[in-house]
Amino acid sequence: MENQTIPRFAEVLLPRPLAGGFTYLIPEGMHALLRPGIRVLVQFGNRKIYSGIVLRLHDEKPEHHQPKAILEVLGPAIDDQRILQFWEWLASYYMCTPGEVMNVALPSRLKLESETQLFCPIEEEHWPGELSEAELEVLRLTRSNSETTLNDVVKFSGTGAVKLVRQLVDSGLLLIKESIKHQSLEKWVKVVRLRPDNDELIAGILSPTSRAKSQQNLLLAYYQIESTGQLVTREKLLEVSRASMSSLDALVEKGIFEIAEVKESSIIGRSGIQAYALTPAQNQALQQILDSFQRKRIALLHGVTSSGKTEIYVHLMKQVQQSGGQCLLLVPEIALTTQLIGRLRQFFGDQISLYHSRMTDRERTDVWESVRKAEPAGRLIVGARSALFLPYSDLRLVIIDEEHDPSYRQDAPNPRYQGRDAAIYLASLFDARVLLGSATPSIESYFNTQVGKYDLVELHQRYEGISLPTVEIIDLKATRKQGQLRGNFSHILLQAIEDALSRGKQSIIFQNRRGYAPRLVCTECGFIYMCQHCDITLTLHKAAQKLRCHYCGSEKSIPLTCSACGSTQLQLHGAGTEQIEDELTSYFPNARIERLDIDTARSKKRYQQLLTDMETGQIDILVGTQMVTKGLNFTKVEVVGVVNADNLLYFPEYRAHERAFQLLEQVAGRSGRSGQRGKVFIQTYTPQHPVLTHVCSHQYSDFYQWQATERREFHYPPYVRMIQLTLRHRDLKILQSAASQLAQSLTTISEISIIGPEFPPVARVSDYYRLRFLIKIPKNQSYLRIKNTLWYTCLSFFAHADYRRIRYTFEVDI
Ligand code: ADP
Ligand code: ZN
Ligand code: ZN
Repeated sequence: MENQTIPRFAEVLLPRPLAGGFTYLIPEGMHALLRPGIRVLVQFGNRKIYSGIVLRLHDEKPEHHQPKAILEVLGPAIDDQRILQFWEWLASYYMCTPGEVMNVALPSRLKLESETQLFCPIEEEHWPGELSEAELEVLRLTRSNSETTLNDVVKFSGTGAVKLVRQLVDSGLLLIKESIKHQSLEKWVKVVRLRPDNDELIAGILSPTSRAKSQQNLLLAYYQIESTGQLVTREKLLEVSRASMSSLDALVEKGIFEIAEVKESSIIGRSGIQAYALTPAQNQALQQILDSFQRKRIALLHGVTSSGKTEIYVHLMKQVQQSGGQCLLLVPEIALTTQLIGRLRQFFGDQISLYHSRMTDRERTDVWESVRKAEPAGRLIVGARSALFLPYSDLRLVIIDEEHDPSYRQDAPNPRYQGRDAAIYLASLFDARVLLGSATPSIESYFNTQVGKYDLVELHQRYEGISLPTVEIIDLKATRKQGQLRGNFSHILLQAIEDALSRGKQSIIFQNRRGYAPRLVCTECGFIYMCQHCDITLTLHKAAQKLRCHYCGSEKSIPLTCSACGSTQLQLHGAGTEQIEDELTSYFPNARIERLDIDTARSKKRYQQLLTDMETGQIDILVGTQMVTKGLNFTKVEVVGVVNADNLLYFPEYRAHERAFQLLEQVAGRSGRSGQRGKVFIQTYTPQHPVLTHVCSHQYSDFYQWQATERREFHYPPYVRMIQLTLRHRDLKILQSAASQLAQSLTTISEISIIGPEFPPVARVSDYYRLRFLIKIPKNQSYLRIKNTLWYTCLSFFAHADYRRIRYTFEVDI
């Protein structure tokens, strides 16, 4: 025994619920295959099998138990140590566990044991004779079903199965089929082509007297799509033309169109559209960015709406592509970025990969592998925040578009992190450059330019030199007094919409609430319909004929009489987008009005259709929630109306003014992007509000000065650091008692100041009451040390029997 070599161990990171590194024994012969970043199969407890990732190899034998051996090496998941370093940093910085990070980081195909497929390549007649009954069973199972997973085997043969599988794999009778290696099925798409020599027929259809309107639309749409350099797919053609399949069939019948099938990859491969020549202003900004990158790692591009930031990104990405390195373009929400992606596709074709959580696992795994191998398509990535976790090896540039956007933060579940800040850390590991872009930078990023941490590059001009829109503030109180208010609309705004309509221009009307009305109230007894599970009113949805809770999703049918007193005097208060749409329809019966919010744009297809219809001028007025504020670029929008700005301005949160300014400035930025100067109308009961004044002048720097002064004075970020600690429990009494006890414990940490415990604006959600602390930490204190103290204070506090069932979460840099 004494002469045996020391067994070596591996620390393996397992996913949630285990969430952490566990020690495993490395079996004989496996050493050569293992290194950090390799995916392995291990057993945990008696039954469960997980795939985990090797964090490190070591010789420290655990004191208290005999570790199990690693079952199987599955192959590499990560090649570059810096990626694991990034995961560990994220866990420690954002106060969660590495297992939780792994959970969001890996596509499920790479982490789930249930996905691991087994197969037997040998036919039964050639199996060796000495197999046990149990082994035969496993082999037959895998032969009978080519999709057999490890879990199936465990279910079928019980606990002993893992060892059995291991033996069968050893003897070569069973193979582990790595899902990654499966050939992806090439997707085929139908494309439409014009057949030659049909000029006369076509002229006939296009002639103004022709009555085949739908066929006319098809032809026009065809030319329109083709002029952008894209292949005309059947789907796109039907979408743009809004014609039916039968009209298309008719044109095929007539021999005008033909339909062919091509591989999907060949469509996007047909890029070839040149980068636009930059305007002098854009070119100057690009040069400044490049210069800045010589000196500093991070630059902020503050470019007004429609200044053409995308074009600058394209040029920078092109440079990285030519150098052979990797570039990540982060966007807040892929689903709301179709226009940007369309532009990148035009230019980069299939040399660019998308990555986000709504993709299928298969697609995500493919991108993962192509990034790991740094294949051409794995060098330019456009992704939502989950793209931060891809296995880069040569990251040179990270661009963060709309860096101010709140959706960069992951709220739930853990890891609760700020994607923009994490991206900056990731870039630092690779010594990569970072470009932050926004028309309305976050206070913290702009602050960083003021203290010299980032360079500031400004682009004050809109592309084509059009002025930023005029902004008119409409005082609702005065308007009402003068009898100039009709429903939710002032005469001025209605007049502007009418004007735009008469000249074939479009309008966007923004209301920050969906549904028909946010409150249903009994005028007899004052009863208000609330959610049974949350402390919030139910919103009436007219189309769905339901009262709905926007927090927990529960719903009920609309009552005819008051549930408290039986009266029929039920009244709606407030207005959501559904009502605004109805109202506009009654004012402008001939206008084409559509609504864009998550109720109408639940499916990607519907959303696309709305965008296309906006682009092709099939919509006159678009009503929507903040979905209409995000990055959309329509050339014919002249009027933007904000129905009521007040609920943005009075939100009880220290960032409320910042968010309100960003939203209003962004929605204003949708108007007048081409041709004529746009007009924005903001209705409000508080016309003197400073946020509105700043939106009127479009002077971001004035707005920043005002906010920065307030934040400094009242000790808010970026002048201090702030962590939010939230406690949740079903029982309010227990929660309150725990919170006040915890408040006691926290006061022992002398360097911090604490606000709370206090209820958030909605105190109860899905039957859980919530109490929160805001913890402010001066910048001259060690953040890491205080976070550690907080962590251990909470760990021991919530280990107490009375409080064990309380859930608690940290949000760092809130
Ligand atoms: P931003 O993101 O700054 O709001 P975009 O990148 O969406 O602005 O640009 C606004 C519009 O101007 C887009 O339609 C874009 O294609 C066009 N554009 C910007 N720069 C150029 C350029 N140099 N040449 C041609 N078109 C441009
Ligand atoms: Zn009542
Ligand atoms: Zn609810």
